[in-house]
Amino acid sequence: MKLIDSALKPEFTSMFDVEHIRADFPILKLQVEGKPLVYLDNAASSQMPQQVIDRLVRYQTSEHANINRGVHYVWYHTYRPVGPKMNAQLALRPDQLVRVRKFVVEMRARMPIAIIDAYYDHDGQALCPMATGVSHHISPRGDIEPCPIIQFAVDNLHDARGIYQTMRDSAFLHDFRQLSAKATRGCVVLERPDLVKELVVKHGARDTTVRGTAMAELEAMQPRFSQWLPGEEVPEKHWMYRLAKKFWFSDFGAYRNADHGAVTRASILKTRLDPAHAVADNPARGEPVVK
Ligand code: SF4
Repeated sequence: MKLIDSALKPEFTSMFDVEHIRADFPILKLQVEGKPLVYLDNAASSQMPQQVIDRLVRYQTSEHANINRGVHYVWYHTYRPVGPKMNAQLALRPDQLVRVRKFVVEMRARMPIAIIDAYYDHDGQALCPMATGVSHHISPRGDIEPCPIIQFAVDNLHDARGIYQTMRDSAFLHDFRQLSAKATRGCVVLERPDLVKELVVKHGARDTTVRGTAMAELEAMQPRFSQWLPGEEVPEKHWMYRLAKKFWFSDFGAYRNADHGAVTRASILKTRLDPAHAVADNPARGEPVVK
């Protein structure tokens, strides 16, 4: 390299820091027969500086998709450990939920594809689409369930009063929305299976599964954290998502009468199962208080 340096005019070498530029190319750190590799570049096989390699890795590990092949949107769901063969190991930990949320927000800001997830408002505050009244679920037999993982129903699509009136006037759905919004901004099934059971019993709701074991599965559930991770909110970065969520996909005031103790409960549930958030002297490390 000294040879090259000395062949250049002094005013040029002061602008052209060869060692500095060599340091950008990982391949030039190689030694060949005990000597630093010298590479005479050409158009057919240019070497890549570290910055280009980093960008390619980022593209391959987090951005590569089928956007240019006619894919217009992706929809992120998080696994809910419910049902007869649930596997709690497959559920994301709180720190992983936050990572996924950050990833989604980042990709929304950068990639030309619509990315949907239904669990957060424009400020990154958790919400439950069932509690806010945005969605319920209809089973293959027409049973109207509060949401896909609450497989109990009182009403059916074929009820005489018709779909609109049924959805509007169902006392079962109404109670579920109210109770869920009061108890948590997250997922009432994961955090408060005891309350879900209470409502199912109160309304005499029928099991809508073909298994016929929905109540036993509900009774076997342990309280867990959900998407509501107080203090870990990740606001939307892209203006379009901020606007869309603020005006068309918000909580619609559902959490106005929320139980403030629920914030503490959500923190307890979060710290209980996530070592990443544990603090040695935090009393919340014990069993969750759910009453
Ligand atoms: S109760 Fe849980 S699974 Fe059901 S809609 Fe709400 S957040 Fe989703």
